Amino acid sequence: MKEDKITGIHHVTAIASDPQKNLDFYAGILGLRLVKKTVNFDAPDVYHFYYGNETGEPGTILTFFPFGDIQRGRSGKGMINTIAFSVPISSMDYWEERLRKFSVDYHPAQERFGSEAVISFKDTDGLALELVFTDKDARNGFTYGHIPQEHSIKGFYNIEIWEEGYERTAGLLTGHLGHELIMEKGNRFRFAADDSPGNYVDILCSPDSLRGIGGNGTVHHMAFCTPDKESQLELRNLLIERMLNPTPVIDRQYFESVYFREPGGVLFEIATRPPGFTVDESKEHLGEGFMLPGQYEPRRREIEKITKPVRLNLEKFRRVFA
Ligand code: ZN
Repeated sequence: MKEDKITGIHHVTAIASDPQKNLDFYAGILGLRLVKKTVNFDAPDVYHFYYGNETGEPGTILTFFPFGDIQRGRSGKGMINTIAFSVPISSMDYWEERLRKFSVDYHPAQERFGSEAVISFKDTDGLALELVFTDKDARNGFTYGHIPQEHSIKGFYNIEIWEEGYERTAGLLTGHLGHELIMEKGNRFRFAADDSPGNYVDILCSPDSLRGIGGNGTVHHMAFCTPDKESQLELRNLLIERMLNPTPVIDRQYFESVYFREPGGVLFEIATRPPGFTVDESKEHLGEGFMLPGQYEPRRREIEKITKPVRLNLEKFRRVFA
């Protein structure tokens, strides 16, 4: 059954400028766990940071390539423009105060779909983020201890794609990627392979907006989660039949990947759930090492020289919000 081949969102990958600022924002202010510090496997002079919950479960994984001083991108159609995180309803006061204390400008809560309260803000590179307050999310949030467990982010709530029209992308999601349309209002169409927070894909029909331009502060691609290599190959064959020109299977160390461009222009990926982030570090020590895949291990010294060292100083974040 096609529903079994995609279980929801696996990860989202975005582009940032400064690695230390990125780490401070996502692990320090938002409290996500840095589950892996490695390099961009296609450009090993650039870091690849993976943030997530305690183990970096699919549906919680946000990754960044901090490219340094490259051009800032522009959000627009044909792009994933907003990443929304899931937090409990009772945490709204906490997060408003937290964002204020760290001088993060935010728009006060607005209602969506009649039942969701949403606060919106931007990261240090201008990437649009949201907190969606919900009591529907059964997942446990992760905390380093500097954010109370009951207020911690539980993972994604939804991601938001802007499209010229939504039909062709919707047809791909529902026809081949195991999604269903579960809600719609105005120009927002919500799809999910699994109707639970962390898996919602919102398409905003935005014919009047400009096309997005990649660069700092924009999303590079999103990945859907597939159970294993077999389901991934079945999906890849389907994509070939649909003339979507998928890449071969690429080993990303923590999952295996197939990439293709959806009809609206967004880069999609199909990523396997296994092996996950404990393949080279224990659960207790995720994110502590600088992990290089086998092909780059012989160049470790050279790579460590090029990549600026980064450090998560949690004490700094405890002091601001005591
Ligand atoms: Zn990816």
